[in-house]
Amino acid sequence: MSQAATARTIVAPLSKRVAVISDVHGNRHALDAVLDAIATEQPDELWCLGDLVGYGPQPNECCRVVAAHADLCLAGNHDLVVLGALSIHDFASDAAAAARWTQSVLADDAREFLTGLEPSSHRDGVDLFHGSARDPVWEYVLDEEAAWWTLNATSQPLVLVGHSHVPLAIELEGDELGGGLARGGTTVALEGARRLLNPGSVGQPRDGDPRAAYLLLEPERRAAFHRVDYPIDRTQAEMREAGSRGAARRGPLTTW
Ligand code: ZN
Repeated sequence: MSQAATARTIVAPLSKRVAVISDVHGNRHALDAVLDAIATEQPDELWCLGDLVGYGPQPNECCRVVAAHADLCLAGNHDLVVLGALSIHDFASDAAAAARWTQSVLADDAREFLTGLEPSSHRDGVDLFHGSARDPVWEYVLDEEAAWWTLNATSQPLVLVGHSHVPLAIELEGDELGGGLARGGTTVALEGARRLLNPGSVGQPRDGDPRAAYLLLEPERRAAFHRVDYPIDRTQAEMREAGSRGAARRGPLTTW
């Protein structure tokens, strides 16, 4: 028996720690700030729930950074529209204008990375969707009916979604649905109930807190919602320079 095998039988493995990000939207400075914060936590894996591009001024750089760092990455609706896999006519005017600009600057390596992504995935004990289980691409989980549907359509202890840009921690215990908006600093114990979590958005938060969001997950133990400052003015300046509309624009305040 090798030394490594002996060690494995004696030392219980540490539980896997996973950092989860979503909705980067071409905001490189927000992504850098989040990845710097995540690096200090030294998680075992990084998962991204989609929408790497759209709105923001640095779509190619965001694709390259996520491609280099993420162990799992989903496709979001913006990614699929920019690729031409979905019609640009499905977007409202601001999103469509941003998608056209992104299409005009998208590099081959970024396109290749996005082309290989799917809007849903699965890991041990975790189902992942950009949108929801009912519609992994387009549906926002922002009300009880949508959360209920997705939790009942899945069976894993944990469901992760992005897309709404609103950090959420929803629990289903028996028939009881609870929880809601998860502000920065919120920690949720994961034992005892099934849960649906949204890490919030890296590049374009829509919960009234402009700081970039990420989630630190210890499956079957706890989830911690984090926010970090980043130089918004640099992203806004790049937006003006790029002439792309919408990157620095905040969506409407959305509450549970
Ligand atoms: Zn998004």
